[in-house]
Amino acid sequence: MKLSIFRTRGFRRVTALAAAVCVAASAAGIGFFPEQTAFAAVIGHSTRTNTASASYQFLGTEMYTYKALQSDITRLASDYSGVTTGSIGTTADGRTIYSVTIGNQSASKKILVVGAMHGREYITTPLIMREAKDLLDRKAAGDAGLDSVSVEFIPMLNPDGVCISQSGIDGLQNSSVKQKVTDIISSWADWGLLTDQNKYTWYLNKWKNNANGVDINRNFDMPGWSSLNDLRDKPASDLYKGPSAESEAETKALVNLVNQGNFTEVVNYHAQGQCIYWKNTGLSNEVLSRDQILGKIARIDTGYQLVGGDTAAQDTTEQDGCSFKDWLDVKKGIPNITLEVGLGTSPVPETQIEEIWQQNQKLLPDLISELCGTYVFPAEESSAGGDSAASGSGASDAAGTSAGAVIGTGAPSSTGGTAAVGSVPE
Ligand SMILES: [Zn+2]
Repeated sequence: MKLSIFRTRGFRRVTALAAAVCVAASAAGIGFFPEQTAFAAVIGHSTRTNTASASYQFLGTEMYTYKALQSDITRLASDYSGVTTGSIGTTADGRTIYSVTIGNQSASKKILVVGAMHGREYITTPLIMREAKDLLDRKAAGDAGLDSVSVEFIPMLNPDGVCISQSGIDGLQNSSVKQKVTDIISSWADWGLLTDQNKYTWYLNKWKNNANGVDINRNFDMPGWSSLNDLRDKPASDLYKGPSAESEAETKALVNLVNQGNFTEVVNYHAQGQCIYWKNTGLSNEVLSRDQILGKIARIDTGYQLVGGDTAAQDTTEQDGCSFKDWLDVKKGIPNITLEVGLGTSPVPETQIEEIWQQNQKLLPDLISELCGTYVFPAEESSAGGDSAASGSGASDAAGTSAGAVIGTGAPSSTGGTAAVGSVPE
């Protein structure tokens, strides 16, 4: 059975809201439909109007923007000592890919945490910012974990994609980039994107790729890149693997960071599904066993399901994956896990952020403890328990490999898609 990425629930939500906005739209803007100024309202996510915030914006429940991230990073570095902020690269639309590093930066043990690789999965950014602040609060309260470990956060790897998902064409800065995204949409005109405003708005809201229409998580330089079937063959809102491996600024930035960073392990946040991808093929037993330990701790802490992938693999043509996880596991030999937070469809509504935080707040403290040799598995986990997913193949969109082949090629449709919401990794 082929599954479609076009899911009924999310599209209907957009459809209903979009209808109310069309009437008031002006004719400004480069997009085909003039609703862009009300995009946030169209997609059903509220935006902050009071800029004089008394608190970090990532602690709130408004749609978390690139601008909010900039403000919060500045404030975090001001409020706490030992916070190093920086840039690992610049996107096509001129945005900074920020990094935030805390802990003992001379330590040999280093954790990398990455979020918002996919534009519409921006719920992962406030989660990561909460994690950074929480570790700093723990340190201030006497927790010694950060004395022996450093943690580098990339809270929003794909800010251009986030801006497109949140604000449409008007979310972009440069006219040439706006035109490029407009051209991408034009190239999919046979999906009805230019004749149906609901489809047009839906398409932008679901934007997963960067501003070049490339899926960063299919752009890593792996042996199978050239034969990877992305089901798109040209720039799009999702799946397209790009003109060449590591063609994108976001991919290059992450590759350079990892090549220079000597990281011990990596946590990669995506949305949605409440599951954990840990396994892979073609990696050493040493890395596999570390992946398993990370996955096990994450399962205990979050309650998310460890995912194998056998079910998906049965429906696919085998493909070499070119995801960040594949690259880390196979090429770099760096243990890592991919967590899919939230439920429903992406963009996951901000109403879920508190629950997502509750589920994830123990993960980094426990991973730090494990690196320090002080973590103790709960008694029921110390035997063979919790390893039942070890038989899986690890195939997923986020985790890489052959997920593309289980995702349908259908166009957005007002009658909805066929996917079971919440069951397909993103
Ligand atoms: Zn993703």
